[in-house]
Amino acid sequence: MPHELPKAYDPTAIEDHWAGYWVRENLFSVPTPTEPVQNQEKAFVILLPPPNVTGRLHMGHMLNQTEMDILTRWRRMSGRLALWIPGTDHAGIATQMMVERQLTTEGTSRQKLGREAFVARVWEWRRHYGGAILEQMKRLGVSVDWSREYFTMDEPRSHAVREAFVRLYHQGLIYRGAYIVNWCPRCQTAISDLEVVHQEQKGHLWEIKYPVLGDGGKPTGEFITVATTRPETMLGDTAVAVHPEDERYLHLHGKKLLLPLMNREIPIVVDPWVSRDFGTGAVKVTPAHDPNDFAMAERHHLPSINVMDDRAHINENGGAYAGLDRFVARKKIVADLEERQLLAGVKDHINNVGHCDRCKTVVEPRLSTQWFIAVTKKANDGRASMKEMAIAAVKEDSSGSKAIRFTPENYEKIYLNWMEDIHDWCISRQLWWGHRIPAWHCAACHKITVPEPGSTADPTACAHCGSTEITQETDVLDTWFSSGLLPVSVFGWPNLTSETRADFDAFYPTSLLVTGFDILFFWVARMIMLGCWFSKDVPTTDGRSRALAESVPFREVYIHALVRDANREKMSKTKGNVIDPIEIVKTYGTDAVRFTLASMASPGTDIAFNVARTEGYRAFANKIWNAARFIFMNVDKAAEVGITVDPKSLGSMPTVGADAPLEARWIVAELHSTSQLIGEALRDYRFDEAANIVYQFFWGSFCDWYLEIAKLRLDFGSDLLNAPTGEVLAEFKGTRAALATLVQVFEAALRLLSPFMPFLTEELWHAIYNGNPPARSIALTPYPRSTGWDLRVFPEMHLVQEFITEIRALRKEIGVEEKAMVPVELRTDAASRRIAEENRGIIERLARVSEVRFVDQIAGGLAEHSTPAFDVAVVYEKKIDVAAERERLTKDIAKYEKGLAAAERQLGNEAFLAKAPAHIVEGLKKQEAETRLLLEKARAALNALPES
Ligand SMILES: [Zn+2]
Ligand SMILES: [Zn+2]
Repeated sequence: MPHELPKAYDPTAIEDHWAGYWVRENLFSVPTPTEPVQNQEKAFVILLPPPNVTGRLHMGHMLNQTEMDILTRWRRMSGRLALWIPGTDHAGIATQMMVERQLTTEGTSRQKLGREAFVARVWEWRRHYGGAILEQMKRLGVSVDWSREYFTMDEPRSHAVREAFVRLYHQGLIYRGAYIVNWCPRCQTAISDLEVVHQEQKGHLWEIKYPVLGDGGKPTGEFITVATTRPETMLGDTAVAVHPEDERYLHLHGKKLLLPLMNREIPIVVDPWVSRDFGTGAVKVTPAHDPNDFAMAERHHLPSINVMDDRAHINENGGAYAGLDRFVARKKIVADLEERQLLAGVKDHINNVGHCDRCKTVVEPRLSTQWFIAVTKKANDGRASMKEMAIAAVKEDSSGSKAIRFTPENYEKIYLNWMEDIHDWCISRQLWWGHRIPAWHCAACHKITVPEPGSTADPTACAHCGSTEITQETDVLDTWFSSGLLPVSVFGWPNLTSETRADFDAFYPTSLLVTGFDILFFWVARMIMLGCWFSKDVPTTDGRSRALAESVPFREVYIHALVRDANREKMSKTKGNVIDPIEIVKTYGTDAVRFTLASMASPGTDIAFNVARTEGYRAFANKIWNAARFIFMNVDKAAEVGITVDPKSLGSMPTVGADAPLEARWIVAELHSTSQLIGEALRDYRFDEAANIVYQFFWGSFCDWYLEIAKLRLDFGSDLLNAPTGEVLAEFKGTRAALATLVQVFEAALRLLSPFMPFLTEELWHAIYNGNPPARSIALTPYPRSTGWDLRVFPEMHLVQEFITEIRALRKEIGVEEKAMVPVELRTDAASRRIAEENRGIIERLARVSEVRFVDQIAGGLAEHSTPAFDVAVVYEKKIDVAAERERLTKDIAKYEKGLAAAERQLGNEAFLAKAPAHIVEGLKKQEAETRLLLEKARAALNALPES
């Protein structure tokens, strides 16, 4: 099995090759099981948080996918049926915006095209560009099952969305209602609270005087002053409210005001919600444009007057201001009030203004008719509300267990707090790109027809009056409604017949969700609500109704941290510090970038991405590459003298006998303990620990120690060939065993590293088998599993390592030339002496020692190091460069003299001695004595130098 490896490690060539191979071979596809799978023990199922079709891979994806891939590969190699499902999200707002921008550059628009043509155009866009991010993922080699790739608007997912809506509607949980929503005038749709970004902005607080009307509707000359940051909304005022106990207004209870500019009579209402301390204590009430006012209007049965259209222009309800943009209207209204002397004042004010997360337009709170899910309501059949289920799924139950476990744990509380406060979920969006709501409006009776559950045909007549004049709702569903259904819809729900439910039975609930904090409420919470709700209807395989722990969409949620730049700054386009993962992968290779992220990823800690580290891990990969080349070279040499390693001896966890040499017993024990530690770290999502453990093993234990020692045993020289037969056989035995262990450990170490560096390890693993591997990929071989190890080998090896490092340090200190072989004197106890004697060959080779002399006393005058276990000295007479030595000693003497003078001066200073603490004075005295000794030694050495 010889092996041609290119001299230099070139990640690009390797990675392109294997990335293509993995996809072509469908390596990670998991077919529908034909026999029942015990889900909890056997399957490891994970859903990729679907990136937007408009997306390009960023560092956050790279971290997210690296973590998922490490876990999935590790679980797969550890014998689990590992299924990782990829897909993309249709991303309603983002995608529609993208295509609208394209249309603008072509001089046309969505409106000119019309709905049908526009939607066709978006599909076309998606076919061309929507797969970009998946192509990037393929290049990164993520071990997903591409045969199960989904798109949130594909046929099965659309069917699930429709069925979910229809069922909820008939369960009495979907309703239509007037509600204050966050309206984006640019996107022309309602957006959720979560999609609104609040920013502080300098603005004004305008104080406006509203005339009080007396009996008979005549102004009394008195005014109530209200304050507002959005004066244009006054056009829709329907009352002014004061606190019931506010003495300033007691005499005005029950009176009316004249709304300026509109000349509309509005009542003064009393409401304990009004804060007496803010401004004048009187607030204008604009129910159609403010959520608090809307609630107040409900309490006081006030009308709501919407004064703006979809583009936030004043509509026909705005009198003289109709047609004006909201900000133009604001200016004009302020000017008109001033002219009428109704402006009491203008103050600077810092506003917290909501902006659309997508397009940054100022959001307008606005009354509109939307579709909602009543998340706090029990269903018609009496089952607990979605909110109750979603809380129970995360909270500890009476037996102390949790159906869903969060890591880091603090997210559990954040989730529960949010869930406790949850409002009805507004699921309608005024977009064209998305799942159109399956509800039909009747022109005759104005009632709504929603198909029955299970029916796939659209209704042709009104279910209430039979009229055929029905039209489908124009709104589409919130994107999160479809992605919230993914945990059930990827496994075939709602089409679960006895033939089609094998996937669902085997893989639901999924094992783990790895995601970022930013979509905890958007997505994680919604999957829990919808997953629990709909899987409840699916009985278990043995016909029971599903317990909560069996209805949750996933058992564990791991929330990963942010990737920041090297200075811990958040990456942002405006700051220009965004790192493009694809660029950096081109330079250093995917393996090195993955390893960088893994080596810094631990729960709750943000990552400061530093390219210097990536460079370091590329060097790590290179070191392994060179180790492989060295091993392969020896394998080839051995083959020439008839020694081979049986490929059948590879692929399991190596073991060696008690009579094997120390380094072999030690590296095998290291391998066992390392695999154990990696498993423990990964189970706790300590990617950093796992990566650092495997790094230390490969670089430190394997390359720096074991491989260096193994070189001792790998002698296939001509001496061996020419030796008498008996000797040859004896030598061969040791060599053969050493070579076998070396290759076995290396092969296992590659498997150990494989989840972290899949490309490098795949390449080298195939090379070991020289084109005839026992599996299609290293990813399909078993992860090295520890069967226990001999603890006694560690102190023994540690002692040998200590001998070597101390001798190396001594050599450096006294300037022994690198290649020179020198004798050493070693004083130690009987047990350590035995170890040193047994491993004399190792010490001699690695520390370049010509002879180890065991002594009772180290000879005087030798440079010596001591540890608790031994004293060691290097016996060395240097041939010295007299001139250089004279120069060095002269410099040293000058330095010591200076130091000594300073110390003497300080110790002669009475004032200092009087004040300084005793330990400082002692330290100074000790330092003085040491310097004096060094000075004397240096002077003597200088005197002893021969004349040059
Ligand atoms: Zn917008
Ligand atoms: Zn009707």
